[in-house]
Amino acid sequence: MEYLFTLAREGPGNGTITSMAEPFAQPLAAAQSEVAELLSDLIRIDTTNTGDTATSAGERAAAEWMACKLADVGIDSEIHESEPGRASLVARIEGADRSRPALLVHGHLDVVPADPGEWSVHPFSGEERDGYIWGRGAVDMKDMDAMVLALVRDWARTGVQPPRDIVLAYVADEEAGGKLGARWLVDEHPDLFEGCTEAISEVGGFSITVRDDLRLYLVQTAEKGLAWMRLTASGKPGHGSFVHDDNAVTRLCQAVARLGSARLPTVLTPPMRQFLDAVSDAYGIEIDPDQPEEALARLGSISRMIGAALRNTANPTMVDAGYKANVIPGTASATVDGRFLYGQQEEFERQLAGLIGEGIQREWIVHDQAVETTFDGPLVDQMVAALKAEDDGARPVPFTMSGGTDAKSFERLGMRCFGFSPLRLPADLDFASLFHGIDERVPVESLQFGIRVLDRFLRNA
Ligand SMILES: [Zn+2]
Repeated sequence: MEYLFTLAREGPGNGTITSMAEPFAQPLAAAQSEVAELLSDLIRIDTTNTGDTATSAGERAAAEWMACKLADVGIDSEIHESEPGRASLVARIEGADRSRPALLVHGHLDVVPADPGEWSVHPFSGEERDGYIWGRGAVDMKDMDAMVLALVRDWARTGVQPPRDIVLAYVADEEAGGKLGARWLVDEHPDLFEGCTEAISEVGGFSITVRDDLRLYLVQTAEKGLAWMRLTASGKPGHGSFVHDDNAVTRLCQAVARLGSARLPTVLTPPMRQFLDAVSDAYGIEIDPDQPEEALARLGSISRMIGAALRNTANPTMVDAGYKANVIPGTASATVDGRFLYGQQEEFERQLAGLIGEGIQREWIVHDQAVETTFDGPLVDQMVAALKAEDDGARPVPFTMSGGTDAKSFERLGMRCFGFSPLRLPADLDFASLFHGIDERVPVESLQFGIRVLDRFLRNA
């Protein structure tokens, strides 16, 4: 199921992007003034991904809205659907030097559900209040979608051409693993990403304030692998009043308790070694690599995400057994969210086997690779330079994300993937809790900062 979608061009940018135009009076004025409105508009298109196409909505509308905003300034795009309504948009902006490899800039259009009853504003209002844009997707990740859109619209209007091809991808279904979005595009339409050797997207590029003149900017260079599993214990069914020595519920719960209370050993992967060095240096503290939690607590709530990148983890999330108080069931099952570090897949399976023990079946529900690249090379140099040019207190550092993103799919095409959605954040903002959180919101000033950084970065990447 798929569409080829080219909209009629209209508006001031009629015509393709040509060359570096003469300098304009106020660089990025248009982008910085429209980014908030673009983000609000995009948030108002409810793209809730329930994990089921029948009840998910809005991705098609969001992709069409995106296509119109690009067509306004003369940028053609294509919309591809994996299933009806599950739309992803791809556009290619031609670079000045077509012999150079292309750079992929990707973002997802879908969001996780939000319950309006829990929020201070309606989660799909896109309201601007107290200098923030509020709504589901404001940080994950319609913020980056809107920043990139505002920037390329500004470029198209003012005749800026990037040095290399930029492939823009606004995709469906990231929040359910990307099977109907990035993964589907990679499997079915790899040609769209022809020549792309590197990619940027979420989750990274945001600041943590150490002190007034020093901010760490966390650039994601690695992601843990995903190993969601179902455990099933079998036993002898029977009457709940009898003496019983083979109870499936008991056996399952013992395994679940062992998994849930285990603290697997610390493993320092290269990005996290660099990250801990930077934290140690920035705060002037010693970090015990075997007990890094205390030092990481300084980073605030983000430490929960960072801490998970120092080891493999397995958290029980669902249990299911029985149907009546006095009937011992023959089987009992549990779901466990497992995550393993890059290079740790086999070790993780050994750890699981030891904890789960005998007499329990384990099957993968979702299994996906860990990815990791190095924090070096010309692209990273340009990230660092762009951040430092816009914030002289910036110190960019690599880190490993505990969760997963579409990078897992694009890495399959051989791209080096980075989480680089630059935001300079207020020192007291609890950014980590906003991801999938209540009252998700992003400062307008942070979006404008992000545009300036992306502009410098993409002009030199
Ligand atoms: Zn996301």
